[in-house]
Amino acid sequence: MADEKNENTCARETCGCPSSQDSKYCSEGCEDADKVHVMEIACSCHHPECR
Ligand SMILES: [Zn+2]
Ligand SMILES: [Zn+2]
Repeated sequence: MADEKNENTCARETCGCPSSQDSKYCSEGCEDADKVHVMEIACSCHHPECR
């Protein structure tokens, strides 16, 4: 059983939210930020698990 490490977590490094089923990211905001490599701002997805 190759259980990959949390495949369903947002691909943005600074975000630990669960991603949506259709995306590597939890939100469009994270996807956008990751594409442009914005590291200085905190995640703005407003998920309770993410600060
Ligand atoms: Zn987040
Ligand atoms: Zn995220």
